[in-house]
Amino acid sequence: MRSAVQIASDVRSGATTAEAEMASSLEAIRARNDELNVFLFVDEEGAINVARRVDERVARGENAGQLAGVPIALKDNLCQVGVPTTAGSRILQGWLPPYNATVIERVLAAGAVPMGKTNMDEFAMGSSTESSAYGPTRNPLDPSRVPGGSSGGSASAVAADMTPMSLGSDTGGSIRQPAAFCGLVGVKPTYGLVSRYGLIAFASSLDQIGPFAKNATDAALLLEVIAGHDPMDSTSLPEPAPSLVSHVNDGVAGRRIGVVRELYEGADDEVVAEVERAAAALRDAGATIVELSVPEFRLGLSAYYLIAPAEASSNLARYDGVRYGLRVDAEDVAAMNEATRTAGFGAEVKRRIMLGTYALSAGYYDAYYGQALKVRTQMIDAFRRAYQEADLLLGATAPSVAFTLGAKSSDPLAMYLSDVFTIPTNLAGDAALSVPFGTGDTGLPVGVQLVGPGRSEAQLFAAARVLELADGRS
Ligand code: GLN
Repeated sequence: MRSAVQIASDVRSGATTAEAEMASSLEAIRARNDELNVFLFVDEEGAINVARRVDERVARGENAGQLAGVPIALKDNLCQVGVPTTAGSRILQGWLPPYNATVIERVLAAGAVPMGKTNMDEFAMGSSTESSAYGPTRNPLDPSRVPGGSSGGSASAVAADMTPMSLGSDTGGSIRQPAAFCGLVGVKPTYGLVSRYGLIAFASSLDQIGPFAKNATDAALLLEVIAGHDPMDSTSLPEPAPSLVSHVNDGVAGRRIGVVRELYEGADDEVVAEVERAAAALRDAGATIVELSVPEFRLGLSAYYLIAPAEASSNLARYDGVRYGLRVDAEDVAAMNEATRTAGFGAEVKRRIMLGTYALSAGYYDAYYGQALKVRTQMIDAFRRAYQEADLLLGATAPSVAFTLGAKSSDPLAMYLSDVFTIPTNLAGDAALSVPFGTGDTGLPVGVQLVGPGRSEAQLFAAARVLELADGRS
């Protein structure tokens, strides 16, 4: 499939039309969606209308936008007017959002063509897309394996060449880990860079929306389009979107890159080997490699599994059978709430609500939630010290390549460990991305992770581009 940059340029020049690009995306979706379960809803009618409007803009000689005619897939926790949005949960089955997420407004304004909503772990809680109420998504590169999660549908859409780009959300790794499993670039932007308005909340202090694409340039382009201040999100950074595409070829000469032991130790040998090879490639491109140890990163997973469930237990209180989606009738209101939530939420979501409610309850708050917040502060300090030694950090994205369906679904702790390398960045609010680098023993892609301080996206994309070139990608 052509890159998003190429498609947009061909649509603007009239070499192709948005409608033709939309039609070929639709054909690719139809060819494999039954097998892979990537899209929960394909918005054929909406896509045709948007594509025709883009073509009319081109015909009138107007600027059709940075993403003119580029088909895009949207994770099903992004609200889109009149389009079924479930967050992978039965409790939201049939719900039609009355407004668009800011990111959707922005991709539409840039001329992109939303093709539909992609499968995900229920309320983004998971690392394999197996906790979706609508069945698992399969990895297009090997359908016996998971695509990762929670944004597994959005990753699979791009890996299966259904759309050249997609949007996901990352609370503890849900963009970077599926990007690694599907051989894509996936970005967790600096907290506040991208508006969360219209993103169905999981853990609000950690959630960020970000792009998936086949290469660093396309990912940078999509992030440029969705980033920048939004008055509708009180945590949105007060500045316009940074220029990213113009820095993709900046290289890494003179940059100090810290290889952080805690960001790859315990990973499978085939993953560690690629991290080491990536460090060598960055050194060859002129970076200085420093070996670092940041022991605080080991505390990330435990702190995350108190903070994220605590926030989730509060965010998910709104699904009460009154305001959204499912209602299971019962004799009084309390019984109706209980019956609705019992029927509407899956096992993982219930586990998180119970964990979070417990961690926040009187008598346990200081010992659990309060303690986790202290660890979070330590984590932020640890990153700050690391950034005195290095401009960017390098590690693995996930401990393994894509695992087989069912391998971890009955063992929550094994599943949680999938995100051990990605979670520290969410806790600190920093920027990070995963870029494919080499393959493991079975030929499946390995993702390496680049991490940087807040607002370091331009440097991260430049380093990712160096690795792409070293790995023989164009
Ligand atoms: N896998 C992690 C979790 O289950 C992270 C999910 C995410 O980033 N949305 O919480």
